[in-house]
Formats: sequence, C-alpha cells, structure tokens
Amino acid sequence: MAGEYKHVVLVGIDGAGNFYRKTDAPAIRRLFAEGAGTDYCLTSIPTISAECWGSMLIGVYPETHGLTNDIVSRLPYTDAEHPTVFRMIRDARPDAEIGAFSNWSPILSGIVERDAGVHLDTGEDPGITRRVCEYIREKKPTFVFVQFDSIDGAGHTFGYGSEKYLKELTVADGYVGAIRSAVEEAGIADDTLFIATADHGGFGQNHGGVTDEEKYVFFAAVGKTVAPGTRIDLEVKDIPAVVTRALGVPGSPSWDSKLPDGLFTK
Ligand SMILES: [Zn+2]
Repeated sequence: MAGEYKHVVLVGIDGAGNFYRKTDAPAIRRLFAEGAGTDYCLTSIPTISAECWGSMLIGVYPETHGLTNDIVSRLPYTDAEHPTVFRMIRDARPDAEIGAFSNWSPILSGIVERDAGVHLDTGEDPGITRRVCEYIREKKPTFVFVQFDSIDGAGHTFGYGSEKYLKELTVADGYVGAIRSAVEEAGIADDTLFIATADHGGFGQNHGGVTDEEKYVFFAAVGKTVAPGTRIDLEVKDIPAVVTRALGVPGSPSWDSKLPDGLFTK
C-alpha cells in the first residue's frame, strides 16, 4: 500500500495539555490554522508519562502495554505482541531512516524496541531541537519522533498553567516552529505529515488524575491531505494509526489505535 506521505514528524510536548491556548504559541496556532486539530484529544488514564507515551507510540491502552515510569526507567521494551509504531515502520521498510529524540531518555530505552533500528538521541530541549533539525535536513527521515520535557518540569515546579509554565510553553512552541522550518528547508514539506501534541496536561503541580486539565491535550496535524481548519476527534492512542496510514505501512492488529476522520480527505 502506498501512503500519501513519504515522511511523518511527530512532536510531543510533555505536560503541555491544551495550555497553548493561554499563551503565545504562534507555531502551534499556525498548525491549527493550516491543518486539522482538536484541543480535546483524550489521553490515557492514568495521566502519567510512561502510560501516555506508551499509548501514543504503541497504540494500546495502559492496561495492555503495562508500562509505568518505573518500568520504562529500568527495562527495555520487548513485547512483540504489541509492537511500537517504530517497529511497524521498520518491518515494512527495512531501509527507512527512523529517529527518536527524547529529553526524557526512558522513552528511548524503555519504549522504543532496541532492535528496531531507530536513531536515538537525548539531551536538553534546545540541544535536541538543534540536532533533530540537522537530522531532518540531512537524512530526510521517514519517521521522526521528538519529545520535549522542560514544560512538564515547569508545571511540577511552578504549577501547570502558571505564568512561568506558560512562558516555558512559548519557548517550546519555538522549538516546534524550528522543526517545522527544518522540514521546509529539507525540501520535504509537501511530502510530510507534521503532527504536534502532548502526553498529558496537569493540575496544580501534578498530574496522574482525571481532571480536564490533565486528560485533554491538543493535537494538530498539517499535510497535503488535511483541509485547513478541520476539527477532528481522536485519542492519544490513535496516533500510531495516523502515522502508519500516512506512510502506507500496516498497523498492528493488536493495536487499539483507530484512524480518526478528517486527516486524509483532501
Ligand atoms: Zn509526561
């Protein structure tokens, strides 16, 4: 099956929820204006990083992937019955360039399969941004995933939605804009589905619960099949179905991931 896209870029901002609405976030707002999106993408419960990134990258609910922050920090991911989106792309495209850049390194060691041939990179958000932009310009990857973490840190320290948190979110929005510019500079924008989202939000100085501030995250996607201004309805666990469909790669039958309406209509 041929996909509509040769490239997918998935940027996740840890702990960002849908707070972009309360601050300067020109790159995210541009994604909404030029593509499809929702401020009410439901993430997995509990609204904890490993559980939610697990759903975003493995396409199943936490009851199925079983990952927790403790587990991903200690153990490699080896569940062949529930392959990640990285694994599915690798199996279909042995020669594909696939990357994962994550500030929170347990995603790289505890969710991405070790033998999936994924280029891994970790570090602070600004360094990751610099290197992923180089990577996109030089390698023109089939799929690259990026995770930023400084916003979640600001939420735990200063409170989600607080002034300092919102300032940090504006900084992260700049990273999203830089990555999008790199896609354009690489000359692959026409063949790229560009997605930005979050794993969960936060309430007070924490997350893990079921308040709207914790369980709803923004999701925005831009690409040639997406009509500008489309409103879509999806959950975080549906993202692998979007990525694989875009590339024309099979998803896993074991996934709970379902393709939302509205992204492949043009
Ligand atoms: Zn998180």
